[in-house]
Amino acid sequence: MSAGKGDIGLIGLAVMGQNLILNMADHGFTVVAFNRSIEKVHAFLANEAKGKSIIGAESIQDLVNKLKTPRRIMLLVKAGDAVDNFINQLVPLLDKGDIVIDGGNSEYQDSERRTKDLAAKGIRFVGTGVSGGEEGARYGPSLMPGGNKEAWPFIKDIFQGIAAKADGQPCCEWVGNDGAGHFVKMVHNGIEYGDMQLIGEIYHIMSSIGISQEEMADTFEEWNKGELDSFLIEITRDILRFKDSDGQYLLPKIRDTAGQKGTGKWTAIAALNYGVPVTLIGEAVFSRCLSALKNERVNASKKLSGPSTKFTGCKKQFLGDLQQALYAAKIVSYAQGFMLLREAAKVHNWNLDYGSIALMWRGGCIIRSVFLGQIKMAFDKDPTLTSLLLDPFFLKAITNAQAGWRNVVATAVTLGVPTPALGTALAFYDGYRSERLPANLLQAQRDYFGAHTYELLGKEGTFVHTNWTGKG
Ligand code: NAP
Repeated sequence: MSAGKGDIGLIGLAVMGQNLILNMADHGFTVVAFNRSIEKVHAFLANEAKGKSIIGAESIQDLVNKLKTPRRIMLLVKAGDAVDNFINQLVPLLDKGDIVIDGGNSEYQDSERRTKDLAAKGIRFVGTGVSGGEEGARYGPSLMPGGNKEAWPFIKDIFQGIAAKADGQPCCEWVGNDGAGHFVKMVHNGIEYGDMQLIGEIYHIMSSIGISQEEMADTFEEWNKGELDSFLIEITRDILRFKDSDGQYLLPKIRDTAGQKGTGKWTAIAALNYGVPVTLIGEAVFSRCLSALKNERVNASKKLSGPSTKFTGCKKQFLGDLQQALYAAKIVSYAQGFMLLREAAKVHNWNLDYGSIALMWRGGCIIRSVFLGQIKMAFDKDPTLTSLLLDPFFLKAITNAQAGWRNVVATAVTLGVPTPALGTALAFYDGYRSERLPANLLQAQRDYFGAHTYELLGKEGTFVHTNWTGKG
């Protein structure tokens, strides 16, 4: 490698790019920074980057000239066309063996395409998931790189250097070929949607049975000391405690409509495409869609009635049940997420290491939790585990949580409080543990109206048709 030049180039000086550059500089790397709107380069160099091992580039050619070879260039720009535009501008200026990394929230199919297209031109492409938001980017993100594995030895030191550490290990490992990194990041985001929805439902039930916001915050604080210990529980506690400048809690004043950028939806679409029942993430996405129908809901709330039942149980005991319900549903959600990873790995020939994925999510990212340490242990013990639900630790945990979980779902139904995620998790659990499901009737119905044929028990693979009406 030539001396006096940058170790890595980074294009895209919005929050993620700037913070990642500062993180790289803190870890001893010299970074060349570029941005489409060049004034952002000048402002960055004059302020945040001042005195650090960060060099500005005035053009893409300038960026390329200022890098050691093989060049490592990371894009942190808006996903989609902006990534392809930069790649198209870079390719004619690069040498064979140079590396282009996309750290945006790109669709995994795009990373698959880019890996193949660039490999044909001798350029090594990496599509990497970056999680942890602004704070993670600055002080240690979770990084999920995939694409052209030839690039890994050249970027491993930077990636593992800047990544978050959990139990002393970097939350970054090579994920797999082509779109594997972005697929794993997408499932991570889907799981994040699920975790947030579950916590939201618990908050809704708590409000409905008259738990004060202070008690809620205390409860989340308590939960954060045990098996539910996680970033999202921790921030929920802080949000619940937060008071506005008028001394009132801020949370009840916030409009109850949630936006989404798409990764949860992509996970649900992937689940449908691969035929994997990732029901909880699906419900989490639909719940955001329902929340967005604010005006319709306000109108319907005046016309559609619900039960007038009041909660009469012991609140303290019920809080214990809520904790169990949250824990059990979370186990189901992660079990579903890993089922999706397993199926996609089969289809794409990705050699995914599930324990390593759990470790990547264990620190640095939004879903970081103690729980992921247990998942890592489960997959380390048995890398071929079909379902997390069958791991002895989680099997015992969900068995113990079951009574409280059922009570919460039943109580919510009685009170008319919607619990799509808690409920679908329970329905999945009951379906997954059922030796027999009513799909025999579905087969018969399909054969009745469409002559689709059906299989008989014990004669799998043999399809027969019945004339159900006896008519010619
Ligand atoms: P962003 O708002 O998604 O994107 C802004 C950056 O993209 C700017 O550098 C902007 O350049 C550039 N850009 C936008 N459209 C462009 C175009 N058509 N051509 C060239 N450049 C274009 O920035 P961000 O929030 O820092 O996120 C960067 C990437 O990381 C995104 O893919 C995002 O989804 C992903 N991500 C974000 C977070 C987060 O917490 N924010 C977390 C994980 C991953 P100009 O300055 O010239 O407009």
